[in-house]
Amino acid sequence: MNAVLPPPVACGPKQPLRQRGQHEVFCGLTSIMWLHRKIQDAFFLVVGSRTCAHLMQSAAGVMIFAEPRFATAIIDERDLAGMADVHDELDRVVARLLSRRPDIRMLVLVGSCPSEVIKLDLSKAAERLNGKHMPTVRVMNYSGSGIETTFTQGEDNFLAALAPQLPAQVPGAEANLLVVGALSEVVEDQFRRIFTALGMERVAFFPPRSSQALPSIGPSTLMLLAQPFLGETAKALEGRGATLIPAPFPLGEEGTTAWLGAAAGAFGVEAGRFSAITEAGRGRAQLAVAKQRTTLEGKRVFFFPDSQLEPSMARFLHRELGCEIVEIGTPYLHRQHLDPEFALLPPNVFVSEGQDVDRQLDRCREARPDLVVCGLGLANPLEAEGISTKWSIELVFTPVQGYEQAGDLAELFARPFARRERLKVRL
Ligand code: SF4
Repeated sequence: MNAVLPPPVACGPKQPLRQRGQHEVFCGLTSIMWLHRKIQDAFFLVVGSRTCAHLMQSAAGVMIFAEPRFATAIIDERDLAGMADVHDELDRVVARLLSRRPDIRMLVLVGSCPSEVIKLDLSKAAERLNGKHMPTVRVMNYSGSGIETTFTQGEDNFLAALAPQLPAQVPGAEANLLVVGALSEVVEDQFRRIFTALGMERVAFFPPRSSQALPSIGPSTLMLLAQPFLGETAKALEGRGATLIPAPFPLGEEGTTAWLGAAAGAFGVEAGRFSAITEAGRGRAQLAVAKQRTTLEGKRVFFFPDSQLEPSMARFLHRELGCEIVEIGTPYLHRQHLDPEFALLPPNVFVSEGQDVDRQLDRCREARPDLVVCGLGLANPLEAEGISTKWSIELVFTPVQGYEQAGDLAELFARPFARRERLKVRL
């Protein structure tokens, strides 16, 4: 196997600051907002409280669906004696839903954190419902509870729960690539075209667009993570025989080239061919990113922990836009998956894992950064203090991976400065 790009040297923050205090992050239910759009014959049924239903409603915002692909089954306060009824009620809700929506092929029960839901064994419920509705509908479950998950961990839990259901490859199958992590369709199509041009035909994406097209997996599978928050999924896929291709994530021109290059190298694509196929995309991405450089160059950026995308975003801002990184806060640091990113960041970059929100706010106020990337809850107070902010959840909802999106990604970070300028002009 030829390596197109030299493997990144492992380095980075030797001692990240680890904090386990109060944190402010959306729960895993939020991931349904992008997952339900991805698998078009799936339906996500949150088993939760009115709070969960409100969250789903407000996270969906103004999106109006003729046939929504998610809903909340509200479990009211009950004591243990009432739990048998809950199971019956859940079965009735599911039967009603499936008879009304014959297009559903995969029903996903999503657990939440109210105590009455915690008492419910959703894996048993899924097993029971599978007995009733298989093979027409596959029923599975995972937890999106705010006690256990942040919003991107919701996707990780979902994919980790789906991994055991992937069909096994036939023995001796040819090497194949599995791209892991939900990508928007436009991005997925662009990557597929590039892989095809590189002569890589056996490429599958996980999750797939249809629950009926689950990719097969086995020892011939090489997996390339498209998102940095998939620790549990990667572990589950490795348990099925897949091997991880280490790479930075496909954000910005450099990240995309390194990510594609790692896959191309693992499949023996010749360096000249790789360079020729990616040349136009690299050029377009560099040009689009350069347009935002005048706004962002020299800006000091502080990341609060939210999505686990923070180290990759920091690498992009530092290397392609000339930003100075004050702190990279991340809810969880998966060293193996992120080493290729840290190899591209300054070795002394300040990294914090987990959160103690008050202390981190103190550090942030003292540093007076030009831009803070954070969750919605922190953005308003910081804006009121005169600090520009960027909501990190936007970076997950917006298609940002790949060459064609590199300019949009840079623009997302430049936008808060443009907004502040406009406000100044009006004042
Ligand atoms: Fe709130 Fe928990 Fe429901 Fe999330 S799962 S909306 S944190 S009650």
